[in-house]
Amino acid sequence: MALVVQKYGGTSVGTIERIRSVAQRVAKTFDEGNEVVVIVSAMSGETNRLVAMANEVCEFPNEREYDVLVSTGEQVTIALLSMCLQSMGYQAKSYLGSQIPMITDSAHAVARIKSIPDINIRKDLAHKTIVICAGFQGVDDLGDITTLGRGGSDTSAVAIAAALKADVCEIYTDVDGVYTTDPRMVPAARKLNKISYEEMLEMASLGAKVLQIRSVEFAKKYDVVIHVRSSFDDSQGTLVMKEDEEMETVLVSGIAFNKDEAKISVLGVPDQPGIAAQIFSPLTEANITVDMIIQNVSSEGKTDMTFTVPKTDCKKAVQIIESVAGTIGARGTSSDTSISKVSIIGVGMRSHAGVASKMFATLSKEGINIEMISTSEIKISCVISDKYTELAVRVLHEAFGLDKEDR
Ligand code: ADP
Ligand code: ASP
Ligand code: MG
Repeated sequence: MALVVQKYGGTSVGTIERIRSVAQRVAKTFDEGNEVVVIVSAMSGETNRLVAMANEVCEFPNEREYDVLVSTGEQVTIALLSMCLQSMGYQAKSYLGSQIPMITDSAHAVARIKSIPDINIRKDLAHKTIVICAGFQGVDDLGDITTLGRGGSDTSAVAIAAALKADVCEIYTDVDGVYTTDPRMVPAARKLNKISYEEMLEMASLGAKVLQIRSVEFAKKYDVVIHVRSSFDDSQGTLVMKEDEEMETVLVSGIAFNKDEAKISVLGVPDQPGIAAQIFSPLTEANITVDMIIQNVSSEGKTDMTFTVPKTDCKKAVQIIESVAGTIGARGTSSDTSISKVSIIGVGMRSHAGVASKMFATLSKEGINIEMISTSEIKISCVISDKYTELAVRVLHEAFGLDKEDR
């Protein structure tokens, strides 16, 4: 007997028919003699619909009320899945985040999990009950509902698997695993049998939304092996796990892209100590996350500072930067929302030279201009014009041999 945690994403519970087939898969796992804890997302499109309603009511919704609203999607699916299993003759019980309880801090909309007392779940499992938990939501010390950020059900699932020391943590989604790049953009993308936590963390943080970043952080911290697989068939998916020697032999494991960032420049800034702090501190105070930064110093002692922020924060960031520009004596500011960031990722880069130059040469051969570059030990990212995203991903995919079976 194993303790199996299964998470089903929005598409997998997108209709009553699909909820029925999830119930069958859950029942089969239970019939095989396992204890089963299921985490579900809201029906696909539902959370977007709720967010849109909040934004229709007011520009900056109150955070507490935002979480009360957007967490409702998961309340619907846990109840429906539970009912479905009960009608099939199984004992099932639904749990909201507050009933588990999934205890988080009070950072509404981006809450972090603090602890998950497992006493309620364990009691049900001991009574042969299938436990169905709402993903994405938690409760803070004040008893208020919190949510874990978009895509947060992945994190709920991995955290519950870690708390219960589950034997298996399966993330069921609408693709049959983690691919070398988004298979919806590049049909030649290939499914990976396994990927290291580090690579998956980079892939997720650089735009591959197949898993929420925090779920991978949790998995890495608590040694949870995640099996990403399809809810539509029984094929073996991808294991997200500790790095092994075999992984090191592959130069580039995946390519990610992100079209959700915008680029802002502060031009002609006097090149003197303290300038960077004066530019970036007000952005931090406004909770705006800055990603890439480059600084060009010219011979006249002036600097151009260029950085990227989430597209959704661009307007706010430009407003702040324009007012800072006046006080620091900058020549002006500019912004561009038509950019994208394309990244290649692989633990093999640590031990192989020449990866960056190959990436730059591949893009240049297609006439794609690189506007910004950033690197880490296992990734290289380039900011380019967003109209070239698909082309860039395709040519890089080919150049690094990711479409070949026997890499
Ligand atoms: P769910 O609703 O099940 O949580 P998501 O939409 O959050 O599903 O994540 C699955 C999607 O992630 C896929 O449909 C796919 O388009 C996208 N995706 C992006 N990059 C990758 C990748 N490298 N491998 C697999 N899927 C990817
Ligand atoms: N329903 C939430 C969202 O759409 C959480 C999730 O699906 O993981 O972001
Ligand atoms: Mg998701």
